[in-house]
Amino acid sequence: SVRAGIVVTGTEVLTGRITDQNGPWVSEQLLSLGVDVAHITICGDRPADLTAQLRFLADQQVDLIVTSGGLGPTADDLTVATVAEFCGRDLQLDPALEEHIAAIIRRWRPDAVDLDDGPTRIGIRKQAHVPAGAVAIPPTGTAPGVAIPASPGEQPLPAILVLPGPPGELQSMWPTAIASPAIAEVVSRAGDLKQETIRAYGLHEAELAETLRRAEEAIPDFDALEITTCLRRGELDMVTRFAADDTATYGRLLDLLTEHHGRQIFSTDGSTIEDQLIATLDGRLIATAESCTGGLVAARLTDRPGSSAYVMGGVVSYSNDAKSDLIDVPAGLIASHGAVSEEVAAAMAEGALRRLKSDVAVSTTGIAGPDGGTADKPVGTVCFGVAITGRPTYTVTRRFPGDRERVRSLTTTAALHLVVA
Ligand code: ATP
Ligand code: MG
Repeated sequence: SVRAGIVVTGTEVLTGRITDQNGPWVSEQLLSLGVDVAHITICGDRPADLTAQLRFLADQQVDLIVTSGGLGPTADDLTVATVAEFCGRDLQLDPALEEHIAAIIRRWRPDAVDLDDGPTRIGIRKQAHVPAGAVAIPPTGTAPGVAIPASPGEQPLPAILVLPGPPGELQSMWPTAIASPAIAEVVSRAGDLKQETIRAYGLHEAELAETLRRAEEAIPDFDALEITTCLRRGELDMVTRFAADDTATYGRLLDLLTEHHGRQIFSTDGSTIEDQLIATLDGRLIATAESCTGGLVAARLTDRPGSSAYVMGGVVSYSNDAKSDLIDVPAGLIASHGAVSEEVAAAMAEGALRRLKSDVAVSTTGIAGPDGGTADKPVGTVCFGVAITGRPTYTVTRRFPGDRERVRSLTTTAALHLVVA
């Protein structure tokens, strides 16, 4: 198989001030190309540390290294120089690239005074240096990337793709980067790998593990499937990778899983609960009335571009007064049943449906903790309501484990599943 390593550089990432987005993104892209990602490492901006990472990955005999970060015009951006030295390649000025970068900067800052001379020009010239035998990846910001071919020989080196740190830049340069000959050559050797995702809700990891144990016994060639499971916000995702030749083996696994956990498996085609919710709405508009989630359900609903096509709006009715004033929950109902009750959840959903003139409304009211629990309504108790025009309102009570953040996060997932169900 073709294997890759990813080196994320940047002291800001190393220290945790910025969360790494490039490692996971590049990893996902490589996996989709059938390239196995063996390592993701993070190092600071010190050249010696980057060199050590490159050495390590080369020793692991990966076929490709992708780096992110450290391509800026300033003196502390040293990735290209460090990689060039590691490969024993001289840096050479690419005059056309220099003019290309200068033209970009001229467009952004037409009034730049030192563009022909001075610090800006020095920075541009630095960025226009390319290791001998490498190909520049044209910048979408100002920092060009570099693709360095693998070097054979006694101490062979993998192909190295050097990309900038800002995620938007890295991502927009990716298609060009993998099409450059040095990288395309490596990727072309990757087999035709498939990846399928099965998503379950309300299924415990231990139950799935038990089913997988049975699958191992029942399915010949089970080992040809590479299965990873991941528990996220109350859903269990199972990603399976296999060579195209092993499609029938995957089919057997899928049969076995649906046989055992058909009720919990809600997606076998990669679709998320958000995708399914949009399909369920089918042009209708949804509204939210949220208490314990404080708008997190609305945030999830509006996460993707174009969500105005199906989201009408939401109300954060956190206090009792807000429940009464904003969405007409009778104060007497709250007094008699408590704010965390299916009666109030129903009134919240119906109030949001009416007030926001939507077709569907979902409500949450619960005890996220750490305080506020009682004997019959302990921390983690959440009541939901789903109101749909022309149908009786549906309510349910759930109890979620964990701290405040976990309870609130699990509540958002449950709310979306209730609307789809
Ligand atoms: P620039 O020309 O912007 O300096 P660069 O290639 O030198 O490009 P860095 O200096 O490493 O990039 O990073 C610039 C900024 O990009 C960082 O301050 C950070 O905001 C963002 N960034 C860099 N690496 C990552 C990463 N792995 N994940 C998320 N954001 C990142
Ligand atoms: Mg920088």
